[in-house]
Order: sequence, then C-alpha cells, then structure tokens
Amino acid sequence: MTAEQQHEQALLLLRDYEDSGAGWFWASNAEGRVIYISQCIAQRLECPHVELLDRQVQSLFILERDENDGVERTLPLLLSARKTFNDLAVRAAVEGHEVWWSISGRPQFDSEGTFIGYRGNGTDITALRQSQRDASRLAEYDSLTGLANRHRMGKRLLSTLNAYQAARRACAVMMIDLDRFKQVNDTLGHQAGDELLKQVAQRLQSVIAEKGCEIGRLGGDEFQILLPDLDDRGRLGEIAQKIIQMVSQPYQIEGSRVIIGASVGVAISPYDGVGADELVRSADLALYASKGGGRGQFRFYSSDLHAEAERRRQIEDDLRDALARNQIWLAYQPIIETKSDRVIGVESLLRWTHPELGDVSPAVFIPIAEEAGLIGALGDWALKQACADAARWPGTLRVAVNVSPVQFTNVGFAGVVTQALANSGLEPERLELELTESIFLNDDQVTDDAFSSLKLLGVRLALDDFGTGYSSLGYLRKAPFDKIKIDQGFIRGVTEPGSRNRAIISAIVSLAGALDMDTTAEGIEAHDELGLMRELGVKQIQGYIYAQPLPEMMVAEALEDGTWTIKPEGPSKYRPERRTVLRKVGLIHEDHRYEVTMRNLSRTGAMIEGLVDVPVGEKFVVDFGEGQLAVAEVRRSAGAMQGLEFETPLVDDGAGGLCTRHRVSPYLIVQAGMQLTALQPGQSLLPGMMPGTVGLSMPKFGQVNERARGNRAA
Ligand code: C2E
Ligand code: MG
Ligand code: MG
Repeated sequence: MTAEQQHEQALLLLRDYEDSGAGWFWASNAEGRVIYISQCIAQRLECPHVELLDRQVQSLFILERDENDGVERTLPLLLSARKTFNDLAVRAAVEGHEVWWSISGRPQFDSEGTFIGYRGNGTDITALRQSQRDASRLAEYDSLTGLANRHRMGKRLLSTLNAYQAARRACAVMMIDLDRFKQVNDTLGHQAGDELLKQVAQRLQSVIAEKGCEIGRLGGDEFQILLPDLDDRGRLGEIAQKIIQMVSQPYQIEGSRVIIGASVGVAISPYDGVGADELVRSADLALYASKGGGRGQFRFYSSDLHAEAERRRQIEDDLRDALARNQIWLAYQPIIETKSDRVIGVESLLRWTHPELGDVSPAVFIPIAEEAGLIGALGDWALKQACADAARWPGTLRVAVNVSPVQFTNVGFAGVVTQALANSGLEPERLELELTESIFLNDDQVTDDAFSSLKLLGVRLALDDFGTGYSSLGYLRKAPFDKIKIDQGFIRGVTEPGSRNRAIISAIVSLAGALDMDTTAEGIEAHDELGLMRELGVKQIQGYIYAQPLPEMMVAEALEDGTWTIKPEGPSKYRPERRTVLRKVGLIHEDHRYEVTMRNLSRTGAMIEGLVDVPVGEKFVVDFGEGQLAVAEVRRSAGAMQGLEFETPLVDDGAGGLCTRHRVSPYLIVQAGMQLTALQPGQSLLPGMMPGTVGLSMPKFGQVNERARGNRAA
C-alpha cells in the first residue's frame, strides 16, 4: 500500500469513527481559532457547521468547575499556557443546549518548535452527566413525595444553623407525625398509604409558602419543616395549627374516604438547641408530648417536657400492672332525664389511683393505653365490671361503657360483649356502648360487621363526644345509633351572645328526633346552660350540675329506695375559669428581682401575690423562666395581691397553656459574657438577676414571707 493509500485509509477510518458518534475531533491554529471540528458537533448544537469554524475555542466550551479539586482552572488559561489537557468536562456554550463533553487537547509545534495550535478529541458525556444528576437528586429527595429526604434536611439544617450562629439569627424546626396513618396502611394497603403520603406532601407544600422554608419527609409518616428566621411563637403556632387542620381534611384514596390527623412538635434555635442534633432532639420531644397530649395538637419545646416524657414512660410502665394491683376502679356518673330530674342511667368512667402519682385522669392514661396495646385488657375489664355492677343494682338503670376505637375494631369485640352479658346476666338493652366518631374515619368492612353483630345482641349504641372530631352528620343516617352525646366543647360558651353552637345543637336535636335517637348534653355545670338545653329540647343531661362521677357504693345506695332523682345545683351562669396555676415567677423592678406566686394567668394578664404596697400603674417585667419575659403594668392592687396587665398578650402553647411570643435570645446572653447554650431552666438571664440577688439600691417593695405565713396558718 502506498503512503497515499495509507493516508486515504486513515481518513476513511476517521470519518467512520466520527460518524459512529463514539467521538469527535477538533483543531485550532496558533491564534486559538477553530480550524477543524467534526460535523457531528454542528448537528448536536443544531447550527451550520461554518458557524463553528474560525471561532475562539473557548467560545464554544465552558469548563465545568470540579467541586472536588480546589484548583481554579479556566479553559482560556489552559490554552494560553499551551498545556496538554485530558478529559476535561465541558459544557456547550450555546444557550438552550444541555450538552456536555469530555475533551482533550495536545499543543502542536512545527519543526522549529513554534506553537501552531491544538489538536484534540472529545466524547459526548451528556447522558452520563444527567444520570449522575438524577442520582444526586435521588440521594437528596424522597422519590415518593418529591420532598427533601432525611439526608438533605440534615445537611440543610446543619449549614443553616452554622451560618445563622454567626449572624445571630433564629431558625425553627417542626416535626410532624401523622396520626392513624398505620391504620390506613394496614386496612387499605401500602399503595393507598403511598398515595396518602403524596397528598399529605402536597397539602404541606400548600400551607408552607414562606420563602426559604424546606419541607422534608424523614421516612414513614414523619415529616420535618425548616423555617429559617422564624422565632415568633404566635406565628409558629398558627402555622402548626394550619398544618393540623389541612392534614385532617378528608382524603379520597382509591375511591375510599380516609381521614387522618397530625401532631406537631416545634423547637427554635438558639433557644431550644444550638446545634442541629440538639434542636432536632428538642423538636422530637415536643412531638412526643403533642402525641401524648391526645393527638391533633402542636407543642413547643420546653424543658418541662423532659419530666413530662419521664412521667409518661412511668405511667406506661405502671399501667401494665395497675389492673393486677387493684388500682383501677370504675366511677359512675348519673345521666338525668331533662324533664323529670330522674336518673335514667349512669356512665362508667375508668379511675386509676396511682400509689405515687395519685389519681391519674383517663384523659391521660387512655391514650397511653391505646398506644401501648393495653387498652384491650382495660376495656374488657371495664365492660365486665360495669355489667356485673349494673346487674346487682335494683331496677332497670342503664349503664354506659366507653369503648376505644382500637377495642371496637378488634374482631373479637362482639364476643367480649356477649361474654360480659352472659356472665353478669344483665339484659342487653340495659347496656349502652359509647363510641366516638373516629371509628368512621375509614370506610371499612370491619366497622360495618362490628355494628351488625352488636345490633344483633340487642345492646344500645351511643355516639360519644359529638362535635369534637370530624362531625359529619352524614354517617348518622347509616350507623344505627340510639343516642348522640353532645360534647362539652359544644356546650362551653353556648349561652354567650353570638355563639353559633346554639343553632348547631338545635340542628342536632331535630336531626336526632327525626332519626329516633336520644340526645344527651355532656358537661353541664351552670343553670343558664341547663335552661338552654331544656329550651332546645335536649332529652338528657350529664354534668356536675347534677352529679360528679360517683363510687359504685353511692350508686347502689341511691338506688335502694326505688327511684333516684337529683336537684340541679350549680352556679347561675357558666364562668370560663381563669387558668389557675399557682407557681413561682420572677418579678423584675429596677434592679431587683422578686419572687412571687402567680395565682392565675390569662392571655392578657396575671394575678400575683407576694409584694406589699405596690401602687397601681407601676411597671414590672415578669420572668416566667426560660427566657420568657413580659412587660406588665399593675392594674389593681390590694394587700399582697396585684392584678397585672401584659403589654403584649401571651399566645397558646398548644397544650392548653400560654407562653410569650418571643424569648430573650441566648445570643444576648452571650453578649453578657456567657457561653452560647440553649435556654436552661432557672438560668439567670440578666447578670445580677439571680433569684434572691440583692440589687444596688434598696428594694422598693416589701416582700411577704410565704413560709412564715404558711406556718402561721397551720
Ligand atoms: P367521656 O366519655 O366524654 O366522659 C365524660 C367526661 O366528662 C368524664 O371525664 C367526666 O368526668 C367529665 N364530665 C362530666 N360532667 C362534667 C362537667 O360538668 N364538667 C366537666 N368539666 N367535666 C365533666 P373523665 O372521667 O376524666 O374521662 C375522660 C375521658 O376518658 C372520657 O370522656 C372517655 O373518653 C375516656 N374514658 C373514661 N373511661 C373510659 C373507659 O372505660 N374506656 C375508654 N375507652 N375510655 C374511657
Ligand atoms: Mg363517654
Ligand atoms: Mg363524651
């Protein structure tokens, strides 16, 4: 083969190679202008081939900076240094084209050693790049919901907190856990569960519109939201409430109606944690407390929660043997016929006398029992005990027993009821089971079946706590209830002018009448409430105005003389109770810090006791602890008691309590020369303001010595 033939063969091979798309070539002259570039590049960039020629090489490619090699390099720099380069990742410098290449170049010199340009080659790495990008997306985002994943949220939190510490800015973290998600997953299947999570994610995105916020799914039904620059607990409480509301609206999943709830825990940096781990732990603890508080709630972190969590754990532990140790008993609260004041039934209510904690409320231990899987045993016991007690009473008084949704959806439940009736000999129509709306949250067969078997037994069914949950009147038509119990939440404030509850109760009463159901109003305490219930036609009343829950002995005694009537006795008007708190707070005046007792607390003010001769109009700073300071003015003053009004009203803390909107920032404490830590209980916030510290000047007000007073009283 001649040299010319060889040359031609080489050219053909080159063309073939270029056409195969496996790679391409380029060459430039001494001025750095393109003198050769493979045809396929023009095609790839959708431009005429001539347009690529005679251009500066660096006008075609942009060097992708490699984040890992810290060396700052640019293509023009490399070219002007006449260096060889290999496998540089570059991007096409043409708008609208997502094309990446890996290019190499070798400088060329003539026989005299003069630089004459570059020759090089390249390969298309666009597909590889895209799959790398997808992989990194996969590594940072949750593929189901598209939200950030745990990894990304952790990274984001860490970098935010680092940056914010230097800038002394605040950042809030919310932890969200779905209530009852497991039930949906178990009854409707994983696919339905996945669909539900997707819809929850969309709702969260619609609630959180704030710039700079990020929503993540940490796994399962656990979500997290990062809210930079937010430390206003009023605003955060509103957001948490909105989240709970939005998540709790019904969902349509594969043709079924599904309702879940949400619990939210909130912690704010630097108050509740300085580092990411500490902050997340605080938010987790707040979430745990909100779930323990009965679900569908939010909670702010506070250092009290550690003790509360400990108490909850103790309650859970001790609850396991409470039955065996005879600490559990039943109280019975009379239910009265409105028109005759006659007791026509009683509701059995679980009571737990704990050896150390005293009486633990069922509102506290029932949710714990449900979560810990102990409700079955407790519920069965209550059912048997109530039936046995009622069977012994003279007459035909009805007994109502509360049934947890967890207990009700247990397949063996109808069997337990049959047993309890058989063992006691109680007539089925004297037993009434109180169920709550939450059993309807899923359309499912188990619920329908349980209803039919109970109806077959002949027991009565009451819908408890109506008005607290989802309150859809729709299901009343299909579920065979004998009674609706209107929750005390509906009764509260019903007599106040402008209350809508009056109209709602009136609607419930007429609906119940039409469906041949009884109505019981719960929690009636005052005569004005009782009067209104009579006027609205509510058939039965249960509440302190007639009787508190009573020990079994008192019921048996009352029934001895045949009929049992009770005269209503109570205040004429319902007075919303001021939250009585009775705790120590600090009172700062000039440079003195006094310790006083807080007698009650409302959003706008507090009653304190402990100082004497304080004139009206005097201003104090109330120190509630943990950085919560409120400026207050004395509005009333008598002896050692003062009524204070806050300059800025307090906000809900999610747990039925109140807290200040803002707190003293730990950054300020740093300024006072202390180390940056989250707020500690009892921490002295202002130098020289330690409890009991004597200031520079004489204290202006005399302090009442509580202990001395207590001794005198004793
Ligand atoms: P519930 O079934 O709605 O019971 C009525 C609650 O209202 C009782 O609280 C009762 O003491 C209270 N109450 C009655 N009248 C008044 C009033 O005039 N004013 C006020 N402020 N409260 C009144 P209790 O005994 O603390 O029970 C709380 C909840 O615990 C019950 O609410 C029920 O949901 C649950 N519970 C109690 N016993 C059982 C049980 O045996 N099984 C199950 N699953 N839950 C139970
Ligand atoms: Mg009840
Ligand atoms: Mg109730």
